Amino acid sequence: MTAIPVRQSPLDLIGNTPLVRLSGPSEAAGCDIYGKCEFANPGASVKDRAALFIVRDAEARGELKPGGCVVEGTAGNTGIGMALVCNALGYRTIIVMPDNQSREKMDTLRALGAELVTVPPTKYSDCNHFVHTSRRLAEETQNAIWANQFDNTANRKAHIEGTAREIWEQMDGRIDGFTCAAGTGGTIAGVGMGLKEFDEDVIIALTDPHGAALYSYYADGELKAEGSSVAEGIGQGRITGNLEGAPIDTQFRISDEEGLEWVARLLREEGLCLGLSSGINVAGAVALGKQLRAQGRAAPRVVTILCDTGFRYLSSLYDPAWLKAKGLPVFPWLSAETAQD
Ligand code: PMP
Repeated sequence: MTAIPVRQSPLDLIGNTPLVRLSGPSEAAGCDIYGKCEFANPGASVKDRAALFIVRDAEARGELKPGGCVVEGTAGNTGIGMALVCNALGYRTIIVMPDNQSREKMDTLRALGAELVTVPPTKYSDCNHFVHTSRRLAEETQNAIWANQFDNTANRKAHIEGTAREIWEQMDGRIDGFTCAAGTGGTIAGVGMGLKEFDEDVIIALTDPHGAALYSYYADGELKAEGSSVAEGIGQGRITGNLEGAPIDTQFRISDEEGLEWVARLLREEGLCLGLSSGINVAGAVALGKQLRAQGRAAPRVVTILCDTGFRYLSSLYDPAWLKAKGLPVFPWLSAETAQD
């Protein structure tokens, strides 16, 4: 007999991801740091959860009907999750994505049968931004809904009802802090709200990359961005519908270099191949662990999100020429290749 239940549908493979103790980060923080393995979802990212909840919510409200179409603007991962969910349920998928995102994500979307539209990366205020383009396309397409992951709170509901409850149960109700970065904000807001329902003393920290405006917003009430980041899928400049009311207690700002250092260490020392948002999250978790200890919490236990697989970034994060072009340090085990050029 197996303790692992047989799932009745591939959609049931979304969520219920493992939680793993990370030894290097735990040593660096002086307390236990755990990562929620969201790369273990069928689409290899945390965004499968939001895609499924958004589709189920639109069905329940009667907006998405058999044979319908879902249109979404995304950095890629939501698109991948959405294409899988829509394939499983018989819907057409149209994905709008900025053309500076990883080639692997675009290739994956095409391979899954999504109709891919790429647009130049622009500011949110530009009417050709991928989010606005996706909304227009949804309006112009018959039987289509706009998933609208940034402002549709079915996104964070996936994390209130799923991710937060899973973390609480996996940690046996003993958790001191949670942190992650925000793209739509669905994960940080949803996990934050869910965990606070279980225990209002759990500290929720936002980990912001450079180039995002949320750190300054939660620190002193002003949306102000400084610097830039190559991390995909995170870095928000506004309070999205999902971020409204998010219970953020404290915040950290993490550089790409710090994030990449953890990506490298987790790969070489622990055998986890991750994307940069995961590295940034782990750096934030180490900072939160240290802060909780400094505040006198004994042996704090901190959880963060391992958002997606590094296999999605072989042509960027794991390509020495790409890293050099971005002025970022090349992973030492790849630098032998670069020595020849
Ligand atoms: N990391 C990656 C790689 C992502 O694609 C996303 C989603 N855009 C996030 C983190 C952030 O998740 P959320 O949208 O829930 O804030």
